[in-house]
Amino acid sequence: MTTITKAFFESLDAADPLAPLRGQFDLGDTLYFNGNSLGPPPRSARDRLRQVVESQWRAGLARGWDMHDWLHLPERVGDRIARLIGAAPGEVVAGDSTSVCLFKLAAAALQSTERAQVVTDEANFPTDLYVLSGLREITGRRIEVLRRPVDRIAASVSGQTALVTLTHVNFKTSRMHDMPALTAAAHDHGALILWDLSHSVGAVPLALNACGADLAVGCTYKFLNGGPGAPAFSFVAQRHHQRLLPMLRGWMGHASPFQFSGEYTSASDSRRYAVGTPEVLALSSVDASLEVFDGIDMTVVREKSVRMSGLLMELIEHECGEFGMEIATPTDPAQRGSHVAVRHPEACTIMQALIAENIIGDFRTPDLMRFAIAPLYLRYADLLELVAALRKTVETRPWESDVFRRRATVT
Ligand SMILES: *Cc1c(COP(=O)(O)O)cnc(C)c1O
Repeated sequence: MTTITKAFFESLDAADPLAPLRGQFDLGDTLYFNGNSLGPPPRSARDRLRQVVESQWRAGLARGWDMHDWLHLPERVGDRIARLIGAAPGEVVAGDSTSVCLFKLAAAALQSTERAQVVTDEANFPTDLYVLSGLREITGRRIEVLRRPVDRIAASVSGQTALVTLTHVNFKTSRMHDMPALTAAAHDHGALILWDLSHSVGAVPLALNACGADLAVGCTYKFLNGGPGAPAFSFVAQRHHQRLLPMLRGWMGHASPFQFSGEYTSASDSRRYAVGTPEVLALSSVDASLEVFDGIDMTVVREKSVRMSGLLMELIEHECGEFGMEIATPTDPAQRGSHVAVRHPEACTIMQALIAENIIGDFRTPDLMRFAIAPLYLRYADLLELVAALRKTVETRPWESDVFRRRATVT
């Protein structure tokens, strides 16, 4: 067991190369363990939003499209994200929500083959499963969707499989799939693979091209801190740009949108996966949030994340195990992402009581508390405070009082 002394945790903070970044987030006294749901705004994003509204939108009006090159924000933001996910410039386009991006890429993949089977993880994020169920109904072919347990994915892929689609880090347990191995398993059977990076990007180093991944989508409002509802991104490996046709066709994916032609001619690069007008304010916010990652080595971020999540699990077991709290996250660092999930029958109430103390994590039904580890702004010492509060909360049995009966709809 690690020495649980304040001095030990403070010494880790003193030696942390990422510690200066916290100043960019103005978190005050809040202990924020919810960065996998909504990242806090870095100063760069707040400044940029003010500036874009005032000097670009108000002063420039429609001239902004030219003056500030708003039209190419999806590619500019995409190129910044590319560095974080091991993609090349020109392979990532930002825009639309993760759900819509997933639909776009899965539809393109299914259209490109005669095969009609999709393999996915039964514990996948619900939106990913809903998107597949919709696709099954509209393609006019009998698309079969196999939802398989996490350990049976590779064995379920066959010569019938068109597409394997997985979320890299599970939103509940934080369990992380082996991306190189599963990508290879899909390719061994001639299938494409589509990764949802929502819970990894910005926290886990990613190497899409190094492992030959075909397609990916991801979220920018979690560990990338892009802002509530900030647009998602789509990655299509360069080698597929000619072959994978967009099925959700909009004018922004046209080769020459401003010709206003009645006939659709798809752009030949990744821009073909764009659909409608770029979300200028939201993309500007994402662009500025990504500045925080400039010059940051993701392996350093990952080292801190693994160390923090390991310490947090140890502390919780040590301090709260006797109160029936169980760790639901893999203890093997190679199999976990960047949050810790803790099971307790009264998880919902305990989390509400913590939030009332300005310690913010979240609850996932039926019995999970999630604590995100966002290495850019969390301190090792925060873990000690969190666990002390967690112990104190569970000791007071808040579920026996009426104060926390009402559950917020979004936590
Ligand atoms: C957060 C998350 C999403 C979000 O989808 P939106 O359409 O952007 O709301 C999708 N998939 C996964 C795995 C997520 O964690």
